[in-house]
Amino acid sequence: MVERKRAAADIARIGGGTKIAAIFGDPVEHSMSPTMHNAAYAALGIDRTYVAFHVKPNDLAAALRAIPALGIVGVNLTVPHKEQAAKLIKRLSFEARTLAAVNCAINRGGILIGDNTDARGLERDLRSLGVQIHGEAAIVIGAGGAAASAILACARLGAAKIVIANRTRSRGTRLARRLSRALGATRLIARGLNALVDRDLLASARIIFNATPMGLTRRRFARLDYRATQRDCFFYDLLYGAQPTAFLRPAIALKRRYADGTAMLINQGELAFELFNGIAPPKDVMRSALHARLHRKPTSASTEAHRSKGSWR
Ligand code: NAP
Repeated sequence: MVERKRAAADIARIGGGTKIAAIFGDPVEHSMSPTMHNAAYAALGIDRTYVAFHVKPNDLAAALRAIPALGIVGVNLTVPHKEQAAKLIKRLSFEARTLAAVNCAINRGGILIGDNTDARGLERDLRSLGVQIHGEAAIVIGAGGAAASAILACARLGAAKIVIANRTRSRGTRLARRLSRALGATRLIARGLNALVDRDLLASARIIFNATPMGLTRRRFARLDYRATQRDCFFYDLLYGAQPTAFLRPAIALKRRYADGTAMLINQGELAFELFNGIAPPKDVMRSALHARLHRKPTSASTEAHRSKGSWR
């Protein structure tokens, strides 16, 4: 009943002057972005709405061209469009160019600017968690767009060495080659998933990221020797959900510090909101809306995800 009333109020809000922001994906129905952005618009009383468009890969070029034509203020891009969008949009930010992926296309007076807020969103969360990896080693599991964001965030925090552990080793090698040009002092090494049972490597890592859908698409995670990690090794899963993920569960059992990707998702949503609308987002409103959607208890900023508490180190 409450939901129906809220939906009716949202529809009543839409009028002739309502501006649109959107997300393009395939599939897109599961996206949390409309929930966060529309809650923010309602709270601020702005005449804008955020909708999800199911765009097939073959239609992406036409859909991007329609953004200025329809006066859409900006769109988020999700799977499988991020890489293709970076090829189609002419003006790219440093991050979008470096990551060769766009998760955010902004309409600036009829000109599309491609940006990527994933690395910034993750970096912001790592800083808020007090994660310190300057001069240290990190392991990133995966070699797709999310892994590239984790690598860029780690490099910005001054990691000395990052080991990419990917199922398809050649893809990890290609990613290392492409990113190493942009990363300066940080050394990138590509390995297969067997790196996750290399006790010396695990003992040297200060942080381990999961940037794959493992645990989501199949229930079990790859073999990882959690006991070989340092007591203060941090486990960060870019996945998120109502329950701790398959990657995080053994780390939690060993009392290691950890976080899931909820705060990263919220941060990239907040950054996109600011880029699309030119105003600061109501952060608590966006967080509460996402948590309600994930069926989690209402939270404060400090308990906004599955994450350990207390300072690191
Ligand atoms: P992607 O480009 O498709 O890359 C997927 C990666 O996962 C590849 O390295 C792939 O290895 C690996 N992988 C897939 N299935 C696997 C399996 N069964 N076993 C081992 N490795 C497997 O995807 P992406 O865009 O990087 O996203 C990865 C995950 O991060 C997604 O699940 C997404 O939800 C999450 N993510 C979260 C946020 C956030 O805000 N929290 C933001 C972005 C992404 P191969 O190279 O061998 O295929």
